[in-house]
Amino acid sequence: MWDLHDLYASPQAWQASYEQVRAQAQTLDRFKGTLGRSADALYTALDAISTVNRVSDRLGVYASLLGDEDLRVAVNQERRQQAQDLATQIAAQTAWVAPEIISLGAAKVQRFESERAALQQRFDFYLTDTLRAAPHTLGEEAEGVLAAAGNVLAQPEAIHDQLADADLPYPQFRLPDGSSVRLDEPAYEKYRQASDRDERRRVFDAFWGTWSSYQGTVGATLTTQVMGDVFTAQVRHYDSALASALFQSNMPEAVYRTLVAQTNAALPTLYRYLRLRRAQLGIQGPLAYYDNYVPLFQPAQPPHFPVADAERITLAALAPLGPDYVAMLRSGFTSRWMNALPHPGKATGGYMNGSAYDVHPYILINYNDDYDSLSTLAHEWGHAMHTLLANAAQPYEKSNYSTFIAESAAISNEMLLNDYMVSHARTRAEKLYYLGAGLESIRTTFFRQVMFAEFELAIHQEIEQGRPLSGARLTQIYCGLLKRYYGEAEGVMTIDPHYCIEWAFVPHFYYDFYVWQYATSMAGAAAITDSILKEGTPARDRYFAMLKAGGSDYPYDLYKRAGIDMASPAPYQALAARMNRLMDEVEALQREGDAGGGRPKAH
Ligand SMILES: [Zn+2]
Repeated sequence: MWDLHDLYASPQAWQASYEQVRAQAQTLDRFKGTLGRSADALYTALDAISTVNRVSDRLGVYASLLGDEDLRVAVNQERRQQAQDLATQIAAQTAWVAPEIISLGAAKVQRFESERAALQQRFDFYLTDTLRAAPHTLGEEAEGVLAAAGNVLAQPEAIHDQLADADLPYPQFRLPDGSSVRLDEPAYEKYRQASDRDERRRVFDAFWGTWSSYQGTVGATLTTQVMGDVFTAQVRHYDSALASALFQSNMPEAVYRTLVAQTNAALPTLYRYLRLRRAQLGIQGPLAYYDNYVPLFQPAQPPHFPVADAERITLAALAPLGPDYVAMLRSGFTSRWMNALPHPGKATGGYMNGSAYDVHPYILINYNDDYDSLSTLAHEWGHAMHTLLANAAQPYEKSNYSTFIAESAAISNEMLLNDYMVSHARTRAEKLYYLGAGLESIRTTFFRQVMFAEFELAIHQEIEQGRPLSGARLTQIYCGLLKRYYGEAEGVMTIDPHYCIEWAFVPHFYYDFYVWQYATSMAGAAAITDSILKEGTPARDRYFAMLKAGGSDYPYDLYKRAGIDMASPAPYQALAARMNRLMDEVEALQREGDAGGGRPKAH
């Protein structure tokens, strides 16, 4: 169990710090109009603002973690709200800073940086990044209008959540034992794994049938979201909604285009996986979309890992990252940084929170002894190690790293773990089980997310080119993508048009080009683990340099310095090669199994 005393000795201590920072935050506008006076004046203002943010971050971590320990405790949820209000208040009190820096101009800012070393050491990236936004920053009046419109533009997501989480009349579903369940999202995710083909078909028919009857409503909701994205991009003088979304991380559009082109080039690898699935499931003719979720290989007894075993295995699996990384991880495991086991009231899912720069990372997972939990543990500790490395090497202002780098650090650990489990499995059935898990994670984290990314781009372009969108049109676009990604023309899978409503259910389409970060990161992780396993120390050092760089540069440039060009085909090809390697191993094991097929099987 994690120990939150490292953050604050007590809720009273938190409250005292909160009051103090709130008072400080209220005075931050005293610097308004002073930034251009001198290097010292600029430094004094930025230092004061940064100090307030740093404590506010720490207050936010404590409030959020304590809230997640038990969501039923009202006072802890109120503290979380207080912390959020403080962060909002600081943002409002400092909204003038970026426009004022932009008004100083690059030449003056650079002169100030050369005059005051600390200004450059701590704030160089922030200043460069702020000045970069000049062409997309409007006058005071227009910025005020846009800020006021922010809540309105956030409503499509709220409508979608309201429908998906509460109002949608999810169907009743009859289980083989005669009992009946409400087929909401968690139930759909559970029962679609049914080994009986007719049962999983009925799950799909019931679930997507319900969504289909809201095609028009959800279509109008998503269209409004896309119109909002396009509107914001246009008034801020971006060439497109995609350009606007990529601007924040300064990702070249070539990365997005290469990701999509290379994924399409790798579709035969996905088809190979789907054909392997068809053979394994013993299906005659093409697969159906509802055949995707049955686990490919199920050992008679699923492997079982208590937390202590998971930590031991993770340490052994990450040995290729070198003794320093392993020692740091071991020391993390012996510290009280992780809330591992599920208990009533605890938040679901899993995350690492590394925002308390002066303390240490914290991890929440809901560990339940299976391989998925073990993999999640290795993933989240990958984030924690990244935070430790970045925070030790960077000042607070340059410690906060991009999702593109973060997910690579976490997925690399998952890949090394998967390789280790395959090579250390005790039986053929276990080996196949781990290979199947590795393959399925590439389908869902890579191919599926790139398909989502293509859908997002296509629907934004419809609006940008003045064509109307509707629920029916969204379904038509999505159907085309499903058929291409799952190889309908190649005879791999037949897509029933009734399931092309799937877009209606995906919340990520309301996050403005979000999902492609995961796909890109997974390709980055494949390139990273490949080079470490092939080259050893030099590749490891380049990787650690990338992690230690934290948020001191843009993710594309950090990858490049680590020897990986995310705008080139190489990382995407590395991931496809990995998938093919896993399938080679599966096929070799299957041949072995066939060769020994004459022996009596033990039950
Ligand atoms: Zn992650």
